Amino acid sequence: MNLTPIFDKDKLKRPFLIAGPCSAESHQQVLQTAQELLATKQIDLFRCGIWKPRSSPNSFEGIGESGLPWLKEIKEQLHLDSCIEIGKPEHLEIALKYDITHFWIGARTSVNPFMVEEIAKSAKNLDISIFIKNPIAIDIKLWYGHFERFYKYGISRLAAIYRGGSTDIPHTYRNDPSWLHLIDFKQHYKDIPIIFDPSHIAGNRHLIQALTQKALLLDVDGLMIETHCNPEMALSDKEQQLPVSGYQHLLQTLTFPQSTKHSVAQNDLANYRLSIDEIDDALIALIGKRTELSKMIAAYKKEHNLPILQVDRWQQVLNETKSKSIQLGIDPDLVIEIFQKIHQYSIDVQEKIIVEND
Ligand code: PEP
Ligand code: MN
Repeated sequence: MNLTPIFDKDKLKRPFLIAGPCSAESHQQVLQTAQELLATKQIDLFRCGIWKPRSSPNSFEGIGESGLPWLKEIKEQLHLDSCIEIGKPEHLEIALKYDITHFWIGARTSVNPFMVEEIAKSAKNLDISIFIKNPIAIDIKLWYGHFERFYKYGISRLAAIYRGGSTDIPHTYRNDPSWLHLIDFKQHYKDIPIIFDPSHIAGNRHLIQALTQKALLLDVDGLMIETHCNPEMALSDKEQQLPVSGYQHLLQTLTFPQSTKHSVAQNDLANYRLSIDEIDDALIALIGKRTELSKMIAAYKKEHNLPILQVDRWQQVLNETKSKSIQLGIDPDLVIEIFQKIHQYSIDVQEKIIVEND
């Protein structure tokens, strides 16, 4: 993809900052939040939901078109662009009349390739930026496909927003952060900037700082933070919105890692990485050796008609693994997970030998 950048991270020397309320509620609330945010001098784009995808039809479903003149006013008088959610082609068509040029596809829309295709088609060759949130039930390939959909219709200003995935399991967070998806995205689309949305992951303003710092250390390109002039009075997502003072405090307490592209740090890191590579090579070689032994054991078990799984032996391995990891100060859950994978692989290898040669 030949993309057009939405922002220049090197020039900014900090992440791209998107902030603003979950929803537009009144002229006064939108104006006051935008003015307070501008006074912090730490905002690049104002976020503001106009049409809200809510679970219940009895909740506040957004102010609708009547909120768009307020965003036009912010653009013309305060020189601050807004970004809104669009959930169908009609939303885009209406918003364009009010000079909105930045849009996001929400997590409840990005589960539906038919609707994303319809929106992308209606955006054909428009000079706009599209931010795409991951689907609420994370299907990473579906998410990847959406960027191709928009690109196919001539939209080259693209960015991703990572907002975690829904979970039924009682959890600290409203949405599971699943960091592996974030890393996977960065590997898959090296040129598409990724914006981190800690507000919808956390669901609670007190958890935002730690989540954001972790995401910054994973080298996200920007942040989208729900910010409200008076969160206690918010009509949606009240628990997770920060007051502007809280937003300012958040930014003061975060450490922004520097770009590693031009830095001498790359040389220093290269030495550590050589040692890490040696250890990784040794780990792979040892797994290879372990597999060879496993095959010899399979031949023995076959000859003596023994079962593959010896549960007492496996329990003993797990117990020893656990106490050794604790002694070394390594998380035992991680080590056990690795051993369970290795053990399962060993069972598969043995099964193949015992069953196939019958
Ligand atoms: C939002 O950004 O206000 C929103 C509805 O987010 P999501 O689609 O991630 O739930
Ligand atoms: Mn919200």
